[in-house]
Amino acid sequence: MENFSEPMGLLIDNTKCIGCRACQTACKQWNNLPAEKTTFFGGEGYQNPKDLSGSTYTLIKFHEVIENNKIKDWGFWKKQCRHCIDPACVVACPVPGVLEKKPYGPIAWDDTKCLGCPLCKEACPFNIPRFTTDINPKIRKCTMCNDRLEEGLEPACVKACPTGTAIFGKREELLKIAEKRLQEEPDKYFKYIYGKDDLDTAVLYISGFDLEKIKGYPKD
Ligand code: SF4
Ligand code: SF4
Ligand code: SF4
Repeated sequence: MENFSEPMGLLIDNTKCIGCRACQTACKQWNNLPAEKTTFFGGEGYQNPKDLSGSTYTLIKFHEVIENNKIKDWGFWKKQCRHCIDPACVVACPVPGVLEKKPYGPIAWDDTKCLGCPLCKEACPFNIPRFTTDINPKIRKCTMCNDRLEEGLEPACVKACPTGTAIFGKREELLKIAEKRLQEEPDKYFKYIYGKDDLDTAVLYISGFDLEKIKGYPKD
């Protein structure tokens, strides 16, 4: 069994994503999350379901890349908790132990003492935490599959991805891979490593277009 003693993370290379949503499905399966009623709502809303929820921890967002008033391309973007290096959600939570930053990367949660207040959601720069819909709501969000990591396994979404869009590894090594790709193919990538050049996060993105153009990705 591998022991993840160093800060780990995910590198998500949007240029490789085909929008198959195997990652979404694997996340639901591993975390025993129910399906949701879905509907197409057009524009950037071809993703399904519409947004993260208490039973959807990751979501492939569909983005139309427009040039000269024409659709040039589809861009896909995997939305999930970024597992911040300095997580605002942990600082904001008034109850010790509900949210915990693990030394090897994940921001994990234990909902038994969660008040559902929802200060973590308000503090999160990426608007990630969601809650169960019961009378006493409890926090739900991606845990980087902390339970799998504890067994030496990679996250379920990474395991399921057929294109290598999402890869798991030491954050330092993922940064080197990202830098190399940007250097070797400058025409393919927007010159920016999300998660390094903006807020420091364990989940890093590189992309063919500026993610800031998509709702929900603040760069500062
Ligand atoms: S993205 Fe939001 S929920 Fe995830 S660790 Fe950062 S502050 Fe917390
Ligand atoms: S790391 Fe695990 S919990 Fe997070 S999105 Fe991937 S499968 Fe879901
Ligand atoms: S499984 Fe991989 S290729 Fe498929 S939607 Fe998810 S990130 Fe993209």
